Amino acid sequence: MAYTYDPQNIFAKILRGEIPNKTVLETDHTLAFHDIYPQAPIHVLVIPKGPYVTYDHFCAEASDAEIVDYARTVAKVCDMLGVVEDGWRLISNAGANAIQEVPHLHVHILGGRNLGRMLQPA
Ligand code: 5GP
Repeated sequence: MAYTYDPQNIFAKILRGEIPNKTVLETDHTLAFHDIYPQAPIHVLVIPKGPYVTYDHFCAEASDAEIVDYARTVAKVCDMLGVVEDGWRLISNAGANAIQEVPHLHVHILGGRNLGRMLQPA
């Protein structure tokens, strides 16, 4: 699979500081910030700073340091947000079938209420 990264996507602009964000946590390789249109009381996005389109792209091309930092940051953010005890959901949309809006890898951390079943019938 050949991946093409669009440096004009909205999260690339956030990473360059061209668009503001409400940061939850920033590390050497990762940024976590509140989703602009929250779909639950807690809705935070976690993105790698590197130019990766999807999770599969990230795992294929990122360094071990980036991958470890990303995975640990997701867990740390969950702890900071206080969702671990009551439960939370991690979603990453990739490509057309998942209706990925922003072509820069991101996971959604959702929590703060009962989130219902994962998928609605088609
Ligand atoms: P996707 O559908 O690609 O998985 O999700 C993209 C997410 O990015 C959506 O939940 C949307 O609300 C969020 N989003 C889009 N533009 C912005 C923005 O400029 N700032 C922030 N914080 N979130 C955004």
